[in-house]
Amino acid sequence: MSDIPQERRVVTAIPGPKSAELQARRVAAVAAGVGSTLPVFTARAGGGIIEDVDGNRLIDFGSGIAVTSVGASAEAVVRRASAQLADFTHTCFMVTPYEGYVEVCEQLAELTPGDHAKKSALFNSGAEAVENAVKIARAYTKRTAVVVFDHGYHGRTNLTMALTAKNMPYKQGFGPFAPEVYRVPVAYGYRWPTGAENAGAEASAQAIDEITKQIGADNVAAIIIEPVLGEGGFIEPAKGFLPAIAQFAKDNGIVFVADEIQSGFCRTGQWFACEDEGIVPDLITTAKGIAGGLPLSAVTGRAEIMDAAHAGGLGGTYGGNPVACAGALGAIETMRELDLNGKAKRIEEVMKVRLAEMRSKLPNGDIIGDIRGRGAMIAIELVKSGTKEPDAAAAGALAKSCHAEGLLVLTCGTYGNVLRFLPPLVIGEDLLNEGLDIIEQAFARL
Ligand SMILES: *Cc1c(COP(=O)(O)O)cnc(C)c1O
Repeated sequence: MSDIPQERRVVTAIPGPKSAELQARRVAAVAAGVGSTLPVFTARAGGGIIEDVDGNRLIDFGSGIAVTSVGASAEAVVRRASAQLADFTHTCFMVTPYEGYVEVCEQLAELTPGDHAKKSALFNSGAEAVENAVKIARAYTKRTAVVVFDHGYHGRTNLTMALTAKNMPYKQGFGPFAPEVYRVPVAYGYRWPTGAENAGAEASAQAIDEITKQIGADNVAAIIIEPVLGEGGFIEPAKGFLPAIAQFAKDNGIVFVADEIQSGFCRTGQWFACEDEGIVPDLITTAKGIAGGLPLSAVTGRAEIMDAAHAGGLGGTYGGNPVACAGALGAIETMRELDLNGKAKRIEEVMKVRLAEMRSKLPNGDIIGDIRGRGAMIAIELVKSGTKEPDAAAAGALAKSCHAEGLLVLTCGTYGNVLRFLPPLVIGEDLLNEGLDIIEQAFARL
């Protein structure tokens, strides 16, 4: 890890003058459609800290959206990727292959749930992995329909925009979207009309009814779900929902795809979040946390499904770039050596206790409608006091208040009212608690 002091330090306004200067250049040169949560320009980052060009050190509760779980300059990632850079940057795996790609696929076979024969294919982004999972499922089943869920997020390419539930900002004005995509209910416990305890059984029954009656199970190539829904608001489908959907897929020859792009690689305290209910997906898509910040993604799954696409049907110029593969091997090494699953569980313990205390101490504590998530994927859903009416303004105000104090937090949720916490799993417990202090103060100021 780089030698950045693991201490918060605020020496200017946030953003400071140098960031503001860069932001002016950015506004002139970078397309307006590319946003930033906090226009603080990064100089260095590592462990639980992001240091900006003005010398401020922010506590990182974002990990670049769940990417730098091992930190943004993890020793093993830097070492392995640097060595690979010096050896060669690229050959294209489809032209002349290299060992790193194969080794990443071997690691994926070992780490993903299930002891069946597995194969993988590597790509650059999460969206590309999801698109390829659909290609593979269609080639295998010779069917076309794809089922996704309310509040789901799967990316920004044309097919994955179709798979994504939320219109603004992901889809508005960007259609028409890919056909043969169907969306069904998910067991969102907090907002399920008859209560969280009924959500698993009722939502799965509704989803299955819609699939059989409106699409026809025989027409469905794939059912794709995030075992913990990320952008949609860190929704953990109520117990029983995922097993019911996975069983339905199995009974009907449908490829069950777990999109673990955000929830995978120790983020939830397990290698993959679907392990929590003993789910063994047919295919798993991974990206984000896989390579310590280098761009890499994968589809991993049952060998006979993965092999269904004809030779030359999968791939891409950069997919499985050797430097990114070296980064992934470094990230996986770090996860094993530092027991980052254990660290994620500890982060959950600390965060959930502190957040529950905050709720009970606040005079209007019921504005924290729900505290949820697993491992280091924790969120609070904000609502108007005495109701379940989403309060996006409160989430925005809290985030802003945290940013001003040097704590980077992100928002999410279909209603924009969820504050989410995704610290690097290597964050020190002091920084974690200091970040929580800042959140507590932000509530006091709200
Ligand atoms: C981020 C994300 C994607 C898209 O990944 P990109 O690398 O941004 O294309 C897909 N699915 C889930 C669950 C994600 O969180």
